[in-house]
Amino acid sequence: MKSTRKGTHLTKTKISSKLLNVIRQNKSFLIVCHINPEGDAIGSISALALGLKNMGKKDICVLSKDGVPEILRFLPSSGLIKQKAPKKEFDVLCIVDCNTLERTGFKELKAKHTVIIDHHIPPDDADKSELYRKLAASVIDPGAAATGILIYKLLSALKISIDKNIATNLYTALLVDTGGFRYSNTSPEALKIACHLIQAGAKPWDIAKEIYDSIPFKSMKLLGLSLSTLDTKDGIAWINTSADMFKQTGTTYEDSEDFVDFPGKVKDIEVAVFFREDDKNVFKLSLRSKGRINVEKIAKSFGGGGHFAAAGCRIKGTLQEVQKKVFTEVRKAIRNAE
Ligand code: 5GP
Ligand code: MN
Repeated sequence: MKSTRKGTHLTKTKISSKLLNVIRQNKSFLIVCHINPEGDAIGSISALALGLKNMGKKDICVLSKDGVPEILRFLPSSGLIKQKAPKKEFDVLCIVDCNTLERTGFKELKAKHTVIIDHHIPPDDADKSELYRKLAASVIDPGAAATGILIYKLLSALKISIDKNIATNLYTALLVDTGGFRYSNTSPEALKIACHLIQAGAKPWDIAKEIYDSIPFKSMKLLGLSLSTLDTKDGIAWINTSADMFKQTGTTYEDSEDFVDFPGKVKDIEVAVFFREDDKNVFKLSLRSKGRINVEKIAKSFGGGGHFAAAGCRIKGTLQEVQKKVFTEVRKAIRNAE
């Protein structure tokens, strides 16, 4: 999920001729997405790989440090995604749905040229980093509802026809990052592209069933335990999932994907927070805004990032300490917005 849910404008994404040339003129491609990947990440890297294959490129490696979540394994070609980077050097490294090497979870990825295709806001000091100084080309558009939209535009600019498998991947990317075509990024552009993808063979009901109505029983049990921690105060609603709950239900992090949506359903709140216990005294947070508060700013103040209305970070401390720190920042943001 996770996109700039602010503004419903059509974005005028420019796919540069530099980017088209890097793709046209090279043979081998290493395509990577961010850690903890969701539908936009997996759908985008799979669609790009399929598109390049249709273009005649034969040497393509698709990488996801955390593999493919079970719920996304229906996506065409997601079975080819690898978790380990090959030792050889590729012509082009494509960093997709994130914009730093750190977010890919890989320390070193070998390629002659690097490109970024993403819709997240880059870190403030990005331009100074080695990655950005050496970038061959990029398309970074925080106004795009999903990275899938950028891949769609890139494939269209390359005159690659969108077949059923590509369409299924890209439709899933759009569906997930617009929250099932509900968030404010559900722009005319997003719906227009979704329409093209359906015409190209994507099956909305089949995909929706896979994404929204195929939750493993154990994950539902985990949700039940987590929901029992639901609480609200000062315009914030939250839940937490402890390491013990994962253990009790035989589940992993993957099973708590989108849990933040549940405190987000509470009426009259501004911000929803999900606290996931990753380790002793280490919590992964998901923050969601109902539209007025910029949670990306809050996440960034803790070393994380994301979008205006959906962001995340990791914080060390006991649950109580972490909650105190975060709630103080959220309350401040709510006060400042008044
Ligand atoms: P989620 O809360 O679902 O993990 O992530 C929400 C959004 O914030 C996504 O766009 C995700 O990529 C981004 N995000 C989550 N955690 C982090 C983090 O630790 N650092 C950065 N830079 N972005 C994050
Ligand atoms: Mn995305």
